[in-house]
Amino acid sequence: MTDAYALPPAQKTWQDHVILNEFFGPLDPTPRRAPMRELISTLLSHRTTHRDEELAYDRMLEAFTDWEGVLAAPTTELAHAIRTTRWPDTQAPRIQEILRRIKAEQGAFTLDFLADWPVEKGLEWLTAMPGIGLKTASLVLLFTYQKPVLPVDVHVHRVAQRVGMIGPKVSVEKAHQVLLEQLPKDALVLLNFHKHNYWHGQHVCFFAKPDCPRCLLKGFCNYYLEHYGPATAEALAATPTHWDSARGTLQH
Ligand code: SF4
Repeated sequence: MTDAYALPPAQKTWQDHVILNEFFGPLDPTPRRAPMRELISTLLSHRTTHRDEELAYDRMLEAFTDWEGVLAAPTTELAHAIRTTRWPDTQAPRIQEILRRIKAEQGAFTLDFLADWPVEKGLEWLTAMPGIGLKTASLVLLFTYQKPVLPVDVHVHRVAQRVGMIGPKVSVEKAHQVLLEQLPKDALVLLNFHKHNYWHGQHVCFFAKPDCPRCLLKGFCNYYLEHYGPATAEALAATPTHWDSARGTLQH
């Protein structure tokens, strides 16, 4: 059993995927939101709860009707409409600048040209927008256009580091590439890997006090080995094997 802790990072990454896929269940790849909504909502979600992000989005469209209205709105009024987000005064001008650039380049509020672009070109275009980093760009390309990219947020990064899928000094930014190289270039696998590790970080591998005794990854996780020693047969047998919805709903 101790040998599992010494597995190469790529094998840990695959094992993590297989186990969490079984635990949370494979996801439906159907895009959850329209492309423009995915982009703007992801921007609104920075350091903001899912509920507050949705509230901001709904209030913005209620106040200004459509993207044309959002673009034409006084920036202070837009900031007021999205006030449930973390940085409304920063995000409001960013949203308007993004809308302005898309309309100027495409003649309409659409991102559908990204479906035909190579991944690198799409990432470059998106990350040139104000406030759009690699994570947001990857989320849009993966969720909306099923491109083979891997978004890495703080939850995915924390789980990957503790388990030993990436080294202790690999940054969130760098982890996008390192983890991607360890996984098949299959959008469905990448979508599941992202969401499952995100949920795992949110509900089990907490930042301050990870719930290691209830974790399915304890048999090969470096953090577990360092804090508890090799997982015993009893510890492994006591681990829940399916997500218990009583512990919280899974949202993204
Ligand atoms: S064993 Fe603990 S540290 Fe490792 S992934 Fe699970 S909850 Fe996180």
